[in-house]
Amino acid sequence: MRNIFFAFLFFFTLASPVAAELHVIATPPWIGSLARENGREQVAVTILVKPNQDPHMVEAKPSMILAGRKADIIMYNGLDLEIGYLPLLLESSRNPRLMPGKSGNFDCSRFVSVIDKPTVTDRSMGDVHPLGNPHYHFSPANILRVAEGMSQTLALLDAANADFYRQNFQGFAARLADHQQRWATIRLQGKRFVAYHKLFEYLAADFGLQITGYVEAKPGIPPSAAHVEELVAAMTSNAPDALLTTGFYGGKDAESISARTGVKVITLPADVGALAGTDDWFAFMDQTLILLQ
Ligand SMILES: [Zn+2]
Repeated sequence: MRNIFFAFLFFFTLASPVAAELHVIATPPWIGSLARENGREQVAVTILVKPNQDPHMVEAKPSMILAGRKADIIMYNGLDLEIGYLPLLLESSRNPRLMPGKSGNFDCSRFVSVIDKPTVTDRSMGDVHPLGNPHYHFSPANILRVAEGMSQTLALLDAANADFYRQNFQGFAARLADHQQRWATIRLQGKRFVAYHKLFEYLAADFGLQITGYVEAKPGIPPSAAHVEELVAAMTSNAPDALLTTGFYGGKDAESISARTGVKVITLPADVGALAGTDDWFAFMDQTLILLQ
């Protein structure tokens, strides 16, 4: 009888996973990846944006508001990347834990050295980077600080597991140091690229490559015919190494510019999960750097 009881107990322990302590909402997938690295089995992560969705063009959906109602923390990119849906999500979900100023409102950009910060903000021009460049997830130096801030905030919200979150961050930092040793051997210094969108400025800053032109004259504004002609002329004379796009940026424009200039197109993952084999942030960075070689 006793043995049967223990057999039951053992089965029950195996069959029921430990309930996650914290419900986390992450906006772009890379934030979800960092939340899982830092929180592991103590967090249940809901990601709102799809890997191949233009993060500037996301709209609020009822499912986001439902997720907002039960969340303990929302982790977002900031710098107005979520301007199309985050204010509505916060207002409609009426969850006091997620309100600005609370620990459950986690703006990852607070830990970032922002580049392209405008001295004068002019939203009337339609620029979708009004507070500076928001695409810092390509920067290991910035991501390390975001991950540290994240682990500290998880420890604050779930004090009983504070050591667990700290250890997870130390594991993340060690894994990043290993990757950076390998990434340092990939020679990108001095390579020159043209990009569709201003998506790779942090990548350029961290790895010493150059972005010499953009298909979009301003971030978020489709290119005019005159701008494309100027760009084609410049690319024909300067011959950059490649034209960089993602799954959702200007496929046809990029192909036509490539055909006219002879400059090859490289499609990079815009976020974690955007291409096969980019299932977490490390794999996403690995793939990005390999494709640029
Ligand atoms: Zn952008």
